Amino acid sequence: MNIEESFLKYFGCAPLGVYRAPARINLIGEHLDYNGGTVLPAAISLYISAAVSIRDDSKIKVYSLNTNNGFEVDLEEIKKDSKYEWANYVFGVFYILLRDGYKIPKGLNILISSEIPLGSGLSSSAALLVLITHLTSEIFKLGLLPIDVVKVAKKVENDYLGLKSGIMDQASIALAKENCCLLLNCDKLEYKHIPLDLGDYTFVVLKTNVPRSLVSSKYNERVEECQKGLSVLKKHFDINNLCEIEVSKLDKIRELISDDVIYSRVKHVITEQNRVYEFTKALEKKDISKLGELLNESHLSLKEDYEVSGRYLDAIQEAALNAGAIGARMTGAGFGGCAIALIKKDFFNEFKERVLSDYYNKTGLHADVVEVNITSGPELLRKR
Ligand code: ADP
Ligand code: MG
Repeated sequence: MNIEESFLKYFGCAPLGVYRAPARINLIGEHLDYNGGTVLPAAISLYISAAVSIRDDSKIKVYSLNTNNGFEVDLEEIKKDSKYEWANYVFGVFYILLRDGYKIPKGLNILISSEIPLGSGLSSSAALLVLITHLTSEIFKLGLLPIDVVKVAKKVENDYLGLKSGIMDQASIALAKENCCLLLNCDKLEYKHIPLDLGDYTFVVLKTNVPRSLVSSKYNERVEECQKGLSVLKKHFDINNLCEIEVSKLDKIRELISDDVIYSRVKHVITEQNRVYEFTKALEKKDISKLGELLNESHLSLKEDYEVSGRYLDAIQEAALNAGAIGARMTGAGFGGCAIALIKKDFFNEFKERVLSDYYNKTGLHADVVEVNITSGPELLRKR
């Protein structure tokens, strides 16, 4: 059954159209967004789709084929309420739009179906937020630009869902351009699209199939550790955030920060920021082996200095290198979820087989290796 048929079955009418939004990977620059850094994500060809129709009343009715349940609220009574589970991502969009003065004249029926694994670090949550914001703006002609979609989606996370997340995920999806990655300064919200011209090479996604665990508690711990490091360094450098510090200052920083753990966290942030710039230069020069080196260095830094990778991400990264990847690293917050690898295109089948068997031997778990294209942002896929 396709999404239109499911919509008909669930809502008893045909949808006016189907919209979709992509998942994202972060090529490099991990755990930098909340440190005011510059990151390099890209949208990938795994999509969340929504079939939608306009209602005669002011209700928002939403159903997800992934969770097999649905919720409804009246636009006139929309408020923060945890009983709506995942549907808060949807209702939060309407809450913020109404709060910010946008007029939503009618309710909507929305049926969601996603090929982005939930909670695996490919940003299914930001894809859902961006999708709902985009389709609402299109249907009711609210006139939101992609950058406005980013801001609304971020406000939903911060003001409605109460999450302290940065801007990277929403931006990498809402601002995405085909075959480009996004060089994004998360502090100033300045960005530039960089062409991702890899010739015979491609990025693939490696799924550990281990859900991220401990992610919110460990995430908050890292945020606090970085804040501690920053408050020490602010006394010695004229900086607003850790990512402003040049990598050449590391020896001096070692002397200034006595706590080994805090130093390691700061070291990751500063070296990772430098790797983002090196990676961008290597992309321009099409220096594939340098790209691979930087991916591997990033993973090592996340494993040893930032301590966010964990057994399964380390196993799959190692499996990718053993299988002949040019480079590989975890992507997203870590503690389970996904990794990415840079490989030669015509080598995909052999690579996949090798990774699956190596990972299985190491962990007893089945991984997935997915070929992806670098794709554009939210769009109308089909119209009735
Ligand atoms: P990630 O964004 O890395 O996938 P998160 O934990 O941030 O992980 O977001 C996952 C959450 O997003 C899910 O638990 C659910 O609440 C919501 N979500 C995303 N996609 C869907 C979907 N297709 N159906 C229902 N809920 C979804
Ligand atoms: Mg998320």
